[in-house]
Amino acid sequence: MKQIAFIGLGHMGAPMAANLLKAGYLLRVFDLVQSAMDGLVPLGANAARSAHDAVDGADVVITMLPASVHVEGLYLGDEGLLKHIAPGTLVLECSTIAPNSARKVHHAAAERNIPMLDAPVSGGTGGAIAGTLTFMVGGDATVLEKARPIFSAMGRNIFHAGGDGAGQVAKVCNNQLLAILMIGTAESLALGVANGLDPVVLSEIMRRSSGGNWALEVYNPWPGVMENAPASRGYNGGFMTSLMAKDLGLAQEAAQVSGSSTPLGGLALSLYRLLLKQGYGEKDFSVVQKLFDH
Ligand code: NAD
Repeated sequence: MKQIAFIGLGHMGAPMAANLLKAGYLLRVFDLVQSAMDGLVPLGANAARSAHDAVDGADVVITMLPASVHVEGLYLGDEGLLKHIAPGTLVLECSTIAPNSARKVHHAAAERNIPMLDAPVSGGTGGAIAGTLTFMVGGDATVLEKARPIFSAMGRNIFHAGGDGAGQVAKVCNNQLLAILMIGTAESLALGVANGLDPVVLSEIMRRSSGGNWALEVYNPWPGVMENAPASRGYNGGFMTSLMAKDLGLAQEAAQVSGSSTPLGGLALSLYRLLLKQGYGEKDFSVVQKLFDH
């Protein structure tokens, strides 16, 4: 059985690591926070003393870190993990980071004959716990086939998006669209209610008409319309506004690199930054409904 080093055991990494343990993989885990490791030891994980210690003798290295700066800091430079990992070790970088950062790590890995994939996920903490994440993978297709059983232990849908960095590009495109759809849904609901409609009735009409979208299907932003949506529990749980703002920032960064015109993505970022200033960073991103007073 493969020995996996899993680094970054936060909201997403810890349940992902737990699913790998359940699938029978041997895990050596590391996080800067000791308690994050302690939670996995009873499930059979071996706690490492450092990231370098975790990757010693590993066949596979998985990272799930907050942002580009953490990923570049861990892998690159003279003290970086890529100088320490044995050639041939499979590196699966699952954090959501800038496509250009992912390409930098790909480049440095290739120089040392270390096969690497950028593989950000969608599905949130619920998907991480249930093992139903979607992986959007960038890199060599033959490397993906080697990694597929590992992804399958943590997720349900595994897409090959394209070459190096393509997984990250797919992720920021999807989340930009998600934000735009959520904002448009919230704005339309507020317009309808202000003009006398019942939000439940309007939601159902739009859901079954040409305005139908994922927010109306499963994630309605108007409180009380959908019992299981974060809007109906004070916008708690779900996908944090701070993470949506981060991903919209990455989309703008990618647009800058490619010279793309993304006016709605830019506006979405501004609206989510406004929500951060209003103290909603930890609330679910459907809290954007509050900007269109309900
Ligand atoms: P988190 O902040 O809960 O966890 C990150 C963990 O990394 C923390 O435990 C932190 O201590 C650890 N860490 C940071 N630097 C480290 C280092 N150098 N060595 C070891 N450990 C280190 O974040 P999260 O919510 O688990 O998200 C992880 C990634 O997944 C992010 O890139 C995020 O954008 C992405 N993501 C999150 C969600 C979500 O719903 N939370 C959904 C999809 C994608």
